[in-house]
Amino acid sequence: MDKFFSKKYRDRCRKSLESGRIMSMFNEDCICLECKDKEIKDPRYEEARDAEAEEVKKGKYNFKGIGK
Ligand SMILES: [Zn+2]
Repeated sequence: MDKFFSKKYRDRCRKSLESGRIMSMFNEDCICLECKDKEIKDPRYEEARDAEAEEVKKGKYNFKGIGK
């Protein structure tokens, strides 16, 4: 997680992360809230979220996501 918090720019849109950042549900990208909104509208978002929840249930907290 060190890399996540030390990052200065969003992986996806390359803008400043000053206004907030969040981990992508699809992969390990660090994205802004704007990109997160787009992600939630993705038809595969639920699939990605469920897959992550399943991994966490198994005790795996380093799930890399289902991929974009
Ligand atoms: Zn963004």
